[in-house]
Amino acid sequence: MIPPRSVTIVGASLAGLRAAETLRREGYDGSITMIGDEPHLPYDRPPLSKQILSGEWPPERSGLTSAEALADAGIELLTSKRAIGFDLATRQLEFGDGGTLVVDGLILATGARCRRLRATDHLAGVHVLRGLDDVEGLRRELDTGPSRVVVVGAGFIGAEVAATVRTAGFEVTLVEAEATPLARVLGSEIGEVCAEIHRDHGVDLRTGVGVVSVEGSRRVESVGLSDGSRVAADILVVGIGVVPNTEWLEDSGLTIDNGVVCDQTSLAAPGVVAAGDVARWPNPRFNEVMRVEHWDNAVEQGAHAARRLLVDDSAAVAFAPVPWFWSDQYDRKIQMAGRGRPGDEMHLATGSFAERRFAVLYGRAGRLVGVVGFNRPRHVMRYKSMIEDGVSFENAVSADV
Ligand code: FAD
Ligand code: NAP
Repeated sequence: MIPPRSVTIVGASLAGLRAAETLRREGYDGSITMIGDEPHLPYDRPPLSKQILSGEWPPERSGLTSAEALADAGIELLTSKRAIGFDLATRQLEFGDGGTLVVDGLILATGARCRRLRATDHLAGVHVLRGLDDVEGLRRELDTGPSRVVVVGAGFIGAEVAATVRTAGFEVTLVEAEATPLARVLGSEIGEVCAEIHRDHGVDLRTGVGVVSVEGSRRVESVGLSDGSRVAADILVVGIGVVPNTEWLEDSGLTIDNGVVCDQTSLAAPGVVAAGDVARWPNPRFNEVMRVEHWDNAVEQGAHAARRLLVDDSAAVAFAPVPWFWSDQYDRKIQMAGRGRPGDEMHLATGSFAERRFAVLYGRAGRLVGVVGFNRPRHVMRYKSMIEDGVSFENAVSADV
């Protein structure tokens, strides 16, 4: 295949930037244009719910690159420019400012955006957390000194925001519909360890309840829960998951189904690849069609998708990572590699739940498929390598790590 004459990247964040940098690293010398709807240079999101929300880092420290570095690499960045349509047949992109662009190679990296609680748009004091502007808005309000923060959803955003805000001394109520925080990812047993950590730090954790109403005339004042209780709120942070940014591609001719649907190699159509939070692809290592909403996947798939654009079908390789993430809450670093599921065999490889420092292995069909660690980074990385190597569950359990 002839490499594309030019590559356009829609989405100027982690996956998009890594794709652009990889093209240059691979020796691609055509033009690269990266288009993003935010006004900022590409920045990293993990510190937003941690060091930047706490005030430990200034917002600038989340920057992933500089204007000079982009210019040196010959990567053109267009900010505050939103793609609103694409037609695969004509390869034309359409923009919110009325412009159009016919593309050759195309990398889709538009990520995801937060779900919102219905009927709260008119209320001040209600926040989501996805970008720099969100964290700055939330910090500004916290700085005015309100004491009662209610966090809805104890997934990653909710658990991290609750930890950061509680550590800063605010009164925090954390509301979760499931029985424990992070239940879907960690399962109920390890989720309960997470629950205890939050309770020990003084968070009022309400599990098994949903939000049924949000009251207030101009500002949020209280939140009604499905068990009939009501919680006073000066600030409400909503962390109830994300949706992939694909609406603009609905009539494009690409397959859209909870993300941009790709083949095993990250190819969505000839000359069109997708990467990061927006991409959904069959990962042959786990025999599962997945969309992964974590940092490492955006980095790795961004690079993989860029390389995919440069080779023809016969040289294309599957994207088959062992997904991996971390989450910092108080003094705990929670990490997971692989794919644990309800019904998997579980084995406590080291430590104990009581000391909240442990590594748990997940096995399925005789294979090691996942590992969760609380303050056990070395163990998580060792077992991650074993998952990559296809080690049996039995051998993983008996390994000396
Ligand atoms: P995104 O980062 O979502 O970027 C997509 C970009 O495309 C955005 O700039 C968006 O505005 C832009 N865009 C969208 N639509 C359009 C359009 N139509 N036209 C132009 N531009 C568009 N992961 C971890 O593993 N560990 C962590 O500790 C961790 N912490 C996190 C903390 C926070 C607060 C958040 C929000 C995420 C965190 N993550 C973490 C997840 C990780 O940051 C994401 O998986 C990663 O940012 C995904 O990168 P992406 O480039 O695919 O998408
Ligand atoms: P998430 O991890 O999907 O968690 C959302 C949580 O909210 C789930 O526990 C969900 O429960 C619950 N929920 C949904 N609707 C609710 C309702 N109406 N009331 C109460 N609870 C409700 O998503 P997130 O925490 O919002 O994070 C957003 C994105 O940022 C994700 O892509 C995440 O991966 C990413 N992120 C990652 C990290 C990290 O990797 N460390 C950190 C921060 C953010 P159900 O399971 O029942 O739906």
